[in-house]
Amino acid sequence: MRVFDPHIHMTSRTTDDYRRMAANGVRAVVEPAFWLGQPRTSPGSFADYFDSLLGWEPYRASQFGVRHHATLALNPKEANDPRCKGVLDLLPRYLDKDGVVAVGEIGYDSMTPAEDEAFAAQLELAVRFELPALVHTPHRDKAAGTRRTLDVVAASGIAPGLVAVDHLNEVTVAPVRESGCWAGFSIYPETKMSPPRMVEILKEYGTERMLVNSAADWGHSDPLLTVETGRAMLAAGFTADDVDRVLWRNPVEFYGQSGRLDLSETGTPESAYAGSSIARGGS
Ligand SMILES: [Zn+2]
Repeated sequence: MRVFDPHIHMTSRTTDDYRRMAANGVRAVVEPAFWLGQPRTSPGSFADYFDSLLGWEPYRASQFGVRHHATLALNPKEANDPRCKGVLDLLPRYLDKDGVVAVGEIGYDSMTPAEDEAFAAQLELAVRFELPALVHTPHRDKAAGTRRTLDVVAASGIAPGLVAVDHLNEVTVAPVRESGCWAGFSIYPETKMSPPRMVEILKEYGTERMLVNSAADWGHSDPLLTVETGRAMLAAGFTADDVDRVLWRNPVEFYGQSGRLDLSETGTPESAYAGSSIARGGS
């Protein structure tokens, strides 16, 4: 099984996680810029963070044979802090860079006017830079938040095929499918979406335009839940080709629209994992 995790916050994970991911077939990741816990007080600390998502983190990943890309944005939560507004002026310079495969994560946290403004401005940037957009939906008030998200996406004029609406569940999947946007699901150990629930959604809606991620971050999360979902799909009767489509070809297709995906080998010697169950050579 080869796995591309389309939404994972490796900044908050250890190198042991990279090791376990590589040993279980995770060969590529996309790390969206997000909230780091401690509030940032100036655009300068975003610049350093963006540089680390484009420099240090891909280097760290490459040591484990994992290809790392990033999506950059002013996240919805910090869009509410006037001290961070200048990040919107920094973004054009960064969106030109090679490792950036989308604008994100953007969208709503508490659905405030400041979030409206940052969301619309960054969808405009996605259009201008011809990049996909990765859109976060709020964890509270999910149904209303998702409807409003889809309205803003439609009003922006961006092609729905360039937008992934993430953190969906049984309640929010249908409107996103109808919109023509990609549907993203974050699989968590306890709360929200689980591998068995994800399998049921795939049975009902099919595998097209579906993205499954572990979203692993500072909270209780598990970077191997993409792999677990693949195993649960196989156990439920999906074919290996179905699993490959959801866990590899779909994210490649979605982020490939940036023209910047690099899935070549990272140069880590195969022998580094000799004797382990690593599946880098197979699918
Ligand atoms: Zn996230």
